[in-house]
Amino acid sequence: MFDDFTDELEEGEGQLIEEGDELEVEEIAAPEVAEQRAAAPEARPGVPGFRPRRMVCAFCVDKVKVIDYKDVRTLEAYLDSYGKIKSGRKTGTCAKHQRRLAVAIKRARHLALLPFTAGQLSAGE
Ligand SMILES: [Zn+2]
Repeated sequence: MFDDFTDELEEGEGQLIEEGDELEVEEIAAPEVAEQRAAAPEARPGVPGFRPRRMVCAFCVDKVKVIDYKDVRTLEAYLDSYGKIKSGRKTGTCAKHQRRLAVAIKRARHLALLPFTAGQLSAGE
């Protein structure tokens, strides 16, 4: 069911998608609003039965205020196999955290904690 997205999301972190299960958003929001939000990602003409799981920003879920540039483990998950920063569309990261994430990754690169480009990651090609 996830085909469209999964082949973009190389190996590794299914974390964001799984976390979509225990959403607090629905409980907080008014029922009608929650209904609308749940219905929104459904529209996908031509793909019967395709219903994408709503993605949620992992940093919002954890209530992260500052993304640590030294936390290489976390940052790595947001790089593709070429070492590029994955888009928020792919990972579900919200705009606010995507901006902070990008800064953190760039800082980590400057300190050589993360690669600028392919060939440095294990899977790099
Ligand atoms: Zn966020």
